[in-house]
Amino acid sequence: MEHKLYIYNTLSRKKEQFIPIHEDKVGMYVCGPTVYGDAHLGHARPAITFDILFRYLQHLGYKVRYVRNITDVGHLENDADSGEDKIAKKARLDQLEPMEVVQYYTNRYHKAMEALNVLPPSIEPHASGHIMEQIDFTKKILDAGFAYESEGSVYFDVEKYNKKYHYGKLSGRNIDEMLETTRELDGQSEKRRSVDFALWKKAAPEHIMRWKSPWSDGFPGWHMECSAMGTKYLGEEFDIHGGGMDLMFPHHECEIAQSTAALGKETVKYWMHNNMITINGQKMGKSLGNFITLEQFFTGNHPLLSKAFSPMTIRFFILQAHYRSTVDFSSEALEASEKGLERLMDGYARLQKLTASDNSTVETDGLRAKCEEAMQDDLNTPIVISHLFEALKSINLVHDGKATISKSDLDELKSVFKLFIEDLLGLQDESAISGTNDAYKKAIDLLLNIRLEAKQNKNWATSDKIRNELTALGFEIKDTKDGFEWKL
Ligand code: ZN
Repeated sequence: MEHKLYIYNTLSRKKEQFIPIHEDKVGMYVCGPTVYGDAHLGHARPAITFDILFRYLQHLGYKVRYVRNITDVGHLENDADSGEDKIAKKARLDQLEPMEVVQYYTNRYHKAMEALNVLPPSIEPHASGHIMEQIDFTKKILDAGFAYESEGSVYFDVEKYNKKYHYGKLSGRNIDEMLETTRELDGQSEKRRSVDFALWKKAAPEHIMRWKSPWSDGFPGWHMECSAMGTKYLGEEFDIHGGGMDLMFPHHECEIAQSTAALGKETVKYWMHNNMITINGQKMGKSLGNFITLEQFFTGNHPLLSKAFSPMTIRFFILQAHYRSTVDFSSEALEASEKGLERLMDGYARLQKLTASDNSTVETDGLRAKCEEAMQDDLNTPIVISHLFEALKSINLVHDGKATISKSDLDELKSVFKLFIEDLLGLQDESAISGTNDAYKKAIDLLLNIRLEAKQNKNWATSDKIRNELTALGFEIKDTKDGFEWKL
């Protein structure tokens, strides 16, 4: 495959050329949501970041198997090895079956992702549907000698693993220090060390979500699902594992340890992490009162929001920053993104209406190459966007009659804009009604063409009637030298 895609590998801490393990096939795993509440801005960023990667790899010609899981069991409060299961707690509070909670929030997650134009993954496995695989994986780690059973639970032996391999290689945490500071806790719990983590937990009598295993009636530890499901669907060695930076430790560190302990080799070639979103400079959190769900963004129903923001504004806002940079959200920042997106989409619409001349007096050369180059530099979407904005200047010059563009240059410009705006950045025109999109646009164009004819025939009554009634419906109509422009 002819390309120079470089991606930043968290494991090696540098940008590396992307060379997949199996020629034209790419295996990609991203940690999905724990479905006990509505998706918020912190869910949108990894979903959009890895959607861009998914789209770009396919554009390069790869056959991509994209696995994004649903966590519906084993994720305990505070990401710890004790405390209530997040799903079970929500089910108890709402007096529902745990699987009702899972279904409800999975449906809502899908709806929010669809609104953000995030493509569905190839496989979306649920942890609760892969208990057998997780038990088998745990057995492999026990057989390899890197886990121990205690009171019906199974724990990973971090100290023993670290003697042979390196626990902490992904997050850069110093394991010797961690072992030293946790030694005094010995004997106070069923774990040998507090850094050890659960592969299987024995369920307390009141715990509803439970399955049979060789050790106890219980449930898998949170990190186990990604090792078991990733290798089940992508093989013992696969290309990319992604997720938010907050998952790097302990979740991904533990996953590396589990897979290496069970299989005796490194499973993932490239680890990728998106950075976090802060809100007015603060970390997001339910207790901080700045926790804004995607639905609240779409409706504007939250005290920190000045108004409602469309899904495409959220998507554009996220793409305006590089995925490894932090992003600070504020209502003003979103308003600026909204204006920027409108300018870009207006320019894109204007491009469709330009007429070609015999030759070009604007520079359109190299736009495609510049945008590709930015994508290949670790998915630098803000640079792609700035190149597109730069090209808007040429579009406007031609539109205003101050420059000309040849047929071939115009076709190229249209093709580059479609590729990057629609196919790769996944930005959609929200001014039109979805589903009936095309017919709807054509109907408005038809009405305005009738008005144009009426004007030419000096039939002012008809011309004014069409204009006034469309304006009353909320359409903005502008007469131009070539005819008209409109938007809702
Ligand atoms: Zn995971």
